[in-house]
Amino acid sequence: MDLTLSLRDSLSRGRVAIERRGSPVAMYACGPTVYNFQHIGNFRKFLFDDLLVRTMRGLGYDVTFVMNITDVGHLVGDGDEGEDKVEAASRRENVDVEAIIQKYTDVFLQDWDALRLTRPDEQPRASRYVEQQIELVELLIGKGHAYDTPEAVYFEVSTFPGYGALTGQIAGERVVGAREEVETETSKRNPADFAIWLKAVGKYEHHIQRWSSPWGYGFPGWHLECSALAHHFLGHPVDVHTGGIDHLFPHHTNEIAQSEGAYGAPFSRAWVHAEHMLVDGEKMAKSVGNVFLIRDLVERGFSPLDLRYLALSVHYSTRINFTWDALAAARAGRRTLLVASWDGEPGGSPDADLMARFWEALADDLASPRALSLAHEAARLEPASRAATLGAMDAVLGILSPKPEIPAEVVELVARREDARSNKQFVQSDAFRDQIQKLGYEVEDSPAGPRIYPTT
Ligand SMILES: [Zn+2]
Repeated sequence: MDLTLSLRDSLSRGRVAIERRGSPVAMYACGPTVYNFQHIGNFRKFLFDDLLVRTMRGLGYDVTFVMNITDVGHLVGDGDEGEDKVEAASRRENVDVEAIIQKYTDVFLQDWDALRLTRPDEQPRASRYVEQQIELVELLIGKGHAYDTPEAVYFEVSTFPGYGALTGQIAGERVVGAREEVETETSKRNPADFAIWLKAVGKYEHHIQRWSSPWGYGFPGWHLECSALAHHFLGHPVDVHTGGIDHLFPHHTNEIAQSEGAYGAPFSRAWVHAEHMLVDGEKMAKSVGNVFLIRDLVERGFSPLDLRYLALSVHYSTRINFTWDALAAARAGRRTLLVASWDGEPGGSPDADLMARFWEALADDLASPRALSLAHEAARLEPASRAATLGAMDAVLGILSPKPEIPAEVVELVARREDARSNKQFVQSDAFRDQIQKLGYEVEDSPAGPRIYPTT
């Protein structure tokens, strides 16, 4: 297949074609900070990464997919102020830092698999690549982009004229990094400068994760790891760099300054950002009590794949409003496709016209809502090509499952219900239906006889 994927690029604010260069597409995706559970809003971004990887591979691109795990240096507030999120969690839960990292990485990966997300080719932990980060700091100092102070090594924003391009701020305007909070104990030359190496002194005197460096003991700033890891695993430049919309500033703005300051422009040929997920029209926040995890969905009887369907039904660059009703609608939509695929006949081949339109939709900036509606068209095909077409589409959609074996107990109940029905004993037949439902199955009557489906 020789369709070319085009994506909207946050930097140029236009479309960028992902070229086939004869080498794998280098994709860098910002990963989670493992200090807490990742909620469904966080997973919207990872679902977008998965859609991108599956689409590229489906279009015949070879892809190297790298996603970091942040386990050090991400400070509360995303800037240079406040506690390290992982160390704060270690105090809050009264366990050591490594236990926090392990716990939240494990749960993250369980949820990742439950959502059928494609595992990255590399998933480096930032703390395992401090040597590469120190080398990057040395390079930036050597090139005059960074300076050492008693409390930190800072990137000097005024040395990088393109600073702020991602958010559309004019280079040189110092509003960019001037955050609202009052910074204390700082030797910054300019409030917009940001820390790339924080020293284990002052407020970080008791910081547990620390490494020896040419600037004394300390730890890398959050933004630094992505520049260093992308370079280490993918080289320079990368083809596509993804993140959530909240990464535009400061995280990606600072990544660009570091990587382009050190290795030259551009850092990435395309910058692609997934929009937020809201809950009942509001931003997810613990204080509002609207933070939901994958396990909360499962507790309410949903499949994680219903969230997958919901995410596919809205373009990645548009906000999703999560409500339980929206998730129920997604479940119904997914079920329609699931039952259609179960009722299909094996041995057919995919419908060429629908498949062509499906790949065109995805190549057009990952138009997943269009791809989903084409899947619903496929569900209405005659049985042989229906199963094959839905199966081929599911390589990207990832929402179908093989029809499970129906337990003998359920088959027996269905047969007894049939007997009751043919003897017009409707009270008994309804009672059998209830029993069948309690076991997680439902019966649908068709001219060809009863059909049995699992409920989810
Ligand atoms: Zn990043």
